[in-house]
Amino acid sequence: MGDVMVDVHHVHKSFGPLEVLCGVDLQVRAGEVTVILGPSGSGKSTLLRTINHLEKVDRGWIGIDGELIGYRSHRGRLHELKEKEVRRQRTHVGFVFQNFNLFPHLTVLDNLVEAPVSALRRPRGEAQAAAHRLLERVGLSDKAGAYPRQLSGGQQQRVAIARALALEPKVLLFDEPTSALDPELVGEVLDVIKDLARAGTTMIIVTHEIGFAREVADTVVFMDGGTVVEQGPPAAVLDDPQHVRTRAFLSKVL
Ligand code: ADP
Ligand code: MG
Repeated sequence: MGDVMVDVHHVHKSFGPLEVLCGVDLQVRAGEVTVILGPSGSGKSTLLRTINHLEKVDRGWIGIDGELIGYRSHRGRLHELKEKEVRRQRTHVGFVFQNFNLFPHLTVLDNLVEAPVSALRRPRGEAQAAAHRLLERVGLSDKAGAYPRQLSGGQQQRVAIARALALEPKVLLFDEPTSALDPELVGEVLDVIKDLARAGTTMIIVTHEIGFAREVADTVVFMDGGTVVEQGPPAAVLDDPQHVRTRAFLSKVL
């Protein structure tokens, strides 16, 4: 087993009076795939957003590859990082959204080139060469010059995955990557994610695709009401859940 890549430690997060994350602990090892399941409103998206520091935590902390996210520890106290530093940290965490979120005015190739050039100061030619390799990896070599609106949802999501990979992140987060797709397009996106899993990419994936979870997850995490109710290997959590809330959820989605 690899070292801990993502370390979520006692994380609390409220929106006004509503506590959405109520002390979440989660560890993800390098090279492993964690699938998060749970009913709507259980805090899955908020958890992913705190890992990327799109949301600040109220209590607890999050580490990526041994580095605190959003804070620097100095003489036993936490100091908030400047926005520039947060942006640098964010390049280590790839994020794939439900609705693709590609830049509509940029070609597929330029969608992949933009962040490495602007955030990592890569030479454009180098970023373009890397982008072509990534498009090949997701099976879209022939779409480099197309615009997002000219692609199917499945193709757009594969571009979004390639774009996230272009920053060579330490971990890739997926928030319901196939929920917005027509059923016949789900498979091509899951196949790309399966390839990444086989290649040892560290990933945290929120999804309702239970069969996929069974196939690719090293760990399945079931969340409800802002807490991790139960976690373990897919065979344990999916086939022999210990908690009544996990059983109730699975009986609805299986
Ligand atoms: P999930 O992804 O599991 O469906 P979310 O993390 O999106 O759950 O949301 C958990 C709860 O937090 C929900 O009740 C949601 O309405 C609330 N919530 C999420 N984001 C915000 C926000 N920015 N402001 C207020 N409430 C929010
Ligand atoms: Mg969500």
